[in-house]
Amino acid sequence: VSGRRRWWCELAWLGGEDATPGVLIEAGPDGVITSVATAVAGAEATEAAVLSGLTVPGLVNAHSHAFHRGLRAWTQVADGGSFWTWRERMYALAARLDPDSYQALAAAVFAEMALSGITTVGEFHYLHHQPDGRPYPAGDEMGAALLAAAAAAGIRITLLDTCYLTGGIGQPLEGVQRRFGDGDAGGWAARVDRLAGTPDAKVPTVKVGAAIHSVRAVPPASVAGVANWARHHHAPLHVHLSEQPAENEACLAAYGKTPTRLLGDLGALGERSCAVHATHLSDDDIAALGRSGTSICMCPTTERDLADGIGPAGALLAAGSPLCLGSDSHAVIDLWEEARALELDERLATGRRGHHPPAALLAAATWRGAEALGWDHVGRIEAGWAADLCTLRTDGVALAGTLGADGIGAAAAAVYGGGAGSVTDVVVGGRTVVAGGEHVTLGPVGPRLAGAIASLWEA
Ligand SMILES: [Zn+2]
Repeated sequence: VSGRRRWWCELAWLGGEDATPGVLIEAGPDGVITSVATAVAGAEATEAAVLSGLTVPGLVNAHSHAFHRGLRAWTQVADGGSFWTWRERMYALAARLDPDSYQALAAAVFAEMALSGITTVGEFHYLHHQPDGRPYPAGDEMGAALLAAAAAAGIRITLLDTCYLTGGIGQPLEGVQRRFGDGDAGGWAARVDRLAGTPDAKVPTVKVGAAIHSVRAVPPASVAGVANWARHHHAPLHVHLSEQPAENEACLAAYGKTPTRLLGDLGALGERSCAVHATHLSDDDIAALGRSGTSICMCPTTERDLADGIGPAGALLAAGSPLCLGSDSHAVIDLWEEARALELDERLATGRRGHHPPAALLAAATWRGAEALGWDHVGRIEAGWAADLCTLRTDGVALAGTLGADGIGAAAAAVYGGGAGSVTDVVVGGRTVVAGGEHVTLGPVGPRLAGAIASLWEA
């Protein structure tokens, strides 16, 4: 009736360590929650869609490179190589994409995300131009392809349009890297402003933000330029930070300071900024990131895949940096796994348990990520917040026996028992995207992914 929607949740996680039984959620036609009632019996919830199992806010994947999904398993054969041989394979794939194949692949990848409960993605996008570096005729077909892909998959996107200007400190872009370059921060900003002004970018499920690829790929003057653009537009600003020791060594050799210190001196840290990885940091770096309120996006399954190391998540949190999560290279698309890995990797690194309570891990996987992507009212089940929901079945083998009576210990059950395969229903902005484990508009996602990836390697 008049576009209002109602869902009755058998159990809903509303922010603590336990879940609440019998939660009736109502949203207006704009997809924003208008009321959340608890202790409602199913029989009383007339005209409500029934969400059996455990419902949590839609998950937020704060760091993605959609096209890396084409590398899954292909970079694991034989000894798997190093980070740098992985990068060569990634470049080979990057060279083959055009706007049509990029859109087809990204739509399938975003649909895979939706099936796993992800309702918002931060896409760190640097494939801007044609393979020889010339702009596409309409200016930004590749960025537009990502917005169209997110719309097709039915999820929110913050397009983190990435400035990528050099092949290393003081080195020109070479080969496929020429696709990434905009000349300088001014050229980058002109292209981003154009994209942000297109109708596809001006819909309620899209935001355009800024990214600095890394201190390897953006000279200091342009770091400052991108940071200024983000400040002027109140936009999120993301940056890959200290993922590999080699980046720190190159930065120290060229500038006499760490990447964190360089970014701080150039105005690129702060509450709207998000440092991705933050693996190899000094104590001063940790203090500077925390003091500035810069959030940290950890990508544990990628960091283990690439042998990056384990970042100091607990120390960063204690210093003042909020934590969020990303699936980055999509070696795995399962934010439940990223959430528990934040705790479990820290256990391995420290020899101690108990760093991040389950509710804090779910917060990292939901509203903390949304905040880092510039969404103020996304990631909680609360009046005034977006009706983005994700339901886990509790009667399957993964969660069976994990929950106490009336939802006791539900956050732990979700984080340590949950997984992409347990997600049955997903709602984004009040719209049903996944029902009964199937994508409602795109149909079977597996064949779609297989087709998109096979056509790239054949091309
Ligand atoms: Zn990345």
